[in-house]
This record gives sequence, C-alpha cells and structure tokens, in this order.
Amino acid sequence: MRNTYFLALLAFIGFSCSSGPENPADQVFINGIIYTVDESNPKVEAVAVKDGMIQAVGTTAEIQEWAGETTEVIDLEGKTMTPGLIESHAHLMGIGYNKLELDLMYVKTYDELVEKVAEAVEKAQPGDWITGRGWHQDKWIEKPEKMVKGFQTNEKLNEVSKDNPVFLRHASGHASFANAKALEMAGIANLSGERPGEVEGGEIILDDLGNPTGVLTERASNLVARLVPEETPERAEEALTLALQELVEKGITSFHDAGSGQDVIDLVEKFKNEGKLTVRQYIMLTGRQPELLEEWYQKGPMIDTADHLLTVRSIKLNCDGALGPRGAWLLEDYYDRPGHRGHETLPMSVVTEVSEKALPLGFQVCSHAIGDRANQEILDRYEAAFAKNPEATDHRFRIEHAQHIHPDDIPRFGEMGVIAAMQAIHLSSDRPWAIDRLGEKRIIDGAYVWQKLMKSGAVVTNGTDAPVEPVDPIPSFYASVTRKTLEGTPENGYEADQKMTREEALKSYTLDGAYAEFEEDFKGSIEVGKAADFTVFDQNIMEVPEEEILKTKVAMTVMGGKVVFKR
Ligand SMILES: [Zn+2]
Repeated sequence: MRNTYFLALLAFIGFSCSSGPENPADQVFINGIIYTVDESNPKVEAVAVKDGMIQAVGTTAEIQEWAGETTEVIDLEGKTMTPGLIESHAHLMGIGYNKLELDLMYVKTYDELVEKVAEAVEKAQPGDWITGRGWHQDKWIEKPEKMVKGFQTNEKLNEVSKDNPVFLRHASGHASFANAKALEMAGIANLSGERPGEVEGGEIILDDLGNPTGVLTERASNLVARLVPEETPERAEEALTLALQELVEKGITSFHDAGSGQDVIDLVEKFKNEGKLTVRQYIMLTGRQPELLEEWYQKGPMIDTADHLLTVRSIKLNCDGALGPRGAWLLEDYYDRPGHRGHETLPMSVVTEVSEKALPLGFQVCSHAIGDRANQEILDRYEAAFAKNPEATDHRFRIEHAQHIHPDDIPRFGEMGVIAAMQAIHLSSDRPWAIDRLGEKRIIDGAYVWQKLMKSGAVVTNGTDAPVEPVDPIPSFYASVTRKTLEGTPENGYEADQKMTREEALKSYTLDGAYAEFEEDFKGSIEVGKAADFTVFDQNIMEVPEEEILKTKVAMTVMGGKVVFKR
C-alpha cells in the first residue's frame, strides 16, 4: 500500500519539478544491488535519504531525481546493500573487554593457552591479575594428556604463573579456569566431604584426590570472579569505544545487549549525548540484580522514540548453562555423562515472578535457555503469565538461544508468540560435539531447529552471542544457509532440512531482529519512512556460490544516513 502511494508520488514529482527536486535528499545511494527485505518491493538499485530516514527507493534514474545541489551522492558501484544488520543477542561490554584482555578464542591447544598466559605474566607486575576469555577445550586440535570431567587441569598454568592470579573465562561464559594462586585467594583448597566440589548452582571440579583442577562451572566461577579488581570507568569507556568500532566494522547498525546493569546504561547514554553512539542499542536489564529490576519497575520502560538510539524495556534472565560444560538443563541424562542433567541457574520461581510483574508494566522478558528442560520450564511460566494478563497481547517475550527443544514444545513458540532469539553460528561451532552431549535422536528432533520453529509461526532472530563467538555476522549468515562448520563440513550440512534460505537468513538478521525489539515499523527493511540504516557488502552475499560467502567483507556501514564505517 505504502509503496503504491509512494510510486504515484514519485511519478507526480517527476512530472511536476523539472528544475531539481523540491525536497532534495541529503544523500542518495545509487548503482547498487539492494535487497530491501520488503516483500512488495524486494530488489532496487538506489535509495534517497533525508534527515536520516529513507525518502525514496527505486532505480538509479528515479533516485537521481531526488539529488539537489547539496545532496551527497554515494555511488555503490554495483555493490550489494541490505538493511543495516541487527545483532539480536550479544554482550556489548564483553566485546570491548575481550579486546582489552587475553583473547583465547583462537587458541588451538592447551599449551598455546599456557604460552599466552606466560607472555602476559612477563609484562605484568607481581600480584596483578591475568584475565582472559574465549577458551574452549572442545575446539582445541589436541586434547591435553590429563582431563577431568572433560576439562584440562591447571598444573601447567600454575608453573607459568606462581605469583599472579589467573582467571580465564570459558567461551560459553558458563565456566572458568583459574590457577592455584587465584584458587588460594578464593579459599578453595583440597575438598572432601559428602558432595565435594558442589556449590549452589555450580561445581568446583576436583580430581580423584579431591584437589581442585582450576575449572569452575556456572556460579562456582563467582568465587574467583568476585576477587578480580573492579573495572575502572576509564577502562569501561575504552571497552565501549572498542566494541562500537568492532560493530560498525562488521556491518552492525543495531545491537541487542543481552543483560547489563545501570553502569552500562549510563555509559551508553553518555556516549549518546556526546554523539559517539554509532550503533543503536537495545539493552536488556540484567536479572542478576533484583534491586535494579525493582528500580525499573518503578520508573517503567525507557523507549527512545526520538533518536531510536538507546532503549531499555526488557529483562534478561539466565536460566541454565551451556551444552559445552554440560550445564544446559535437560529433561533426560546427558548422553556422555549418565546421571547428569545439568541444572537451572536461577530458581524457576524467579521466571514466574519477573514475567508476571514485568508484563503489565510493558517490559519484555528474555530468558536464556539452552536445554530442553529449561526451554520447557520457561514456556510454562510465560504461558501462565500470559493467561493472567490477557490484555497484554503484544508481549514479544523471547527465549534466548532456544538451542535444544523438546518436540512437543516447538509449536508452542509460534502459538504463544514467543520469539526464538537464536545464533546460527553456534550450530557451526557446536554441532560437531553437541551430538556427544545429546545423542543423535535429540539432535535431529530438537536441536538448532530453525525451520521447525519458523514453520510453527515463530519469529527467529539471528546473532552471535559475542564474545562467545566473534560478532561478525557473515559466518553466522553462512551457518544459517549451509548448516556447515566454517571448514565447510559436512558436505550437505547438518540436518539439512533445517537450513534457512538466504532471504530467511537476511530477514532474521534485519526485520525479525527489529520485531524482537518492537522496532519493525522504524527499521529492519529498506522502505520509505524507515531509518536509513544500511550494510554494504563487497560482493553479492545473496547470490555468490555458497563457498564464497565467508569471503564477503563489509564495505560500508550506514546508521541513520551517516556513514559510520567505510573500508
Ligand atoms: Zn549471551
């Protein structure tokens, strides 16, 4: 409808002003291959932008009509442009701090990890903390000689860092690895007793002799994490600056931050006021701080209807762990650890309480759930909250990750209108070993089931969970359409019937992401009246052969009509 009207208007303007447009564009983007994610007008060549909003779309010839003397003409030279990409689940400050700490994401062996720590120790003052993140023992090309419960042990780490406490977070965020010095400072020693090593909501992994191995899962990590010196405001600013730079370089124009406190909200607001916020932010309140939630229940959601740069209207709850460290909460035993089903990481009564309180106040709830038990428990609790608040029809409650779902629960996403906020890249990285955790049947029935969810009518968003994975959307797009590892295996992809088409993958990274933050009328597709948020690629990501997709680079990122990155 809007388009028909617009075309008529365009024709009218074309006829009526022969001496330049009456309302010239600020910018025109011409000579592109532009995928709009607007079903009624899916592919165009050019876009005119005024005051950060899309003024017209059409052919290059049509759009040139909008150029006046002061209009900036951006020639896309045949490059491909899409709506600005929306990262629907990642950790803003984590991305920045990752750049300030030891980045262990690309470490290929345990020895390499130890080497990196040794280098850091050399540069550090005695007693300084050595911190890092991103290691993942299942991604190492060879296993260390000694493993306990699937993890390395810290003897080598202790050798290279006797006086500096070391604390290294697992890529999943659900485990950590500390040296003896750090454990000693935390008061963790030889443990024996009835249920040695178990702490509330987590585990201190012990060897046969009852000695801690350095690996802490879930909430046991807090025993050491709380000793790591607080971040200073200067360091936080540095981290945010680095994170924003990383995002624009990767073509991200909107970002859903999966759980932060008031300090981060204040910092982002400061950047906004200083004109430094180059990526739109949708920040979920962390459910780890009940007093923060109380405060926000009092004041209500903060919806940025003026600039659409910083909105806070959702609450993140962390309900279980990840499959890697076997923390995901399952309905049945782990295939590779009988008798173990993972665990919830907060009492389920909290999901009930927060959902029922948040819903009538206009807050969205976003619950992290990986295992089928966690997904089921949350759907049950959401359902009860919806039943109690029948007037709140546009709730858009989400489940973050929704990685492994019992077949009976899959249709409930569509029926209840619960958004599945998934990260396709997890399939590429995790599927090769996730089958060890779940076995074949559960993998096929309910793991990474994008098509089943979409067919149930559910909205499926995309992202990376950075810094768990790099924030780069291109590998996640590749994973979405191929269901292969980044090495290109297996030949036809894992559970190939669940692949997304490229159109679906693009929508999951744009319009569906916008929907998941109540912004689909403002952004997410290239249509007149929407925000001029664009991502430009150096090759046609929608048409290049599958094996070429990973070579695609972001050439330009445009947010609100402003070029915020150009290669
Ligand atoms: Zn996350």
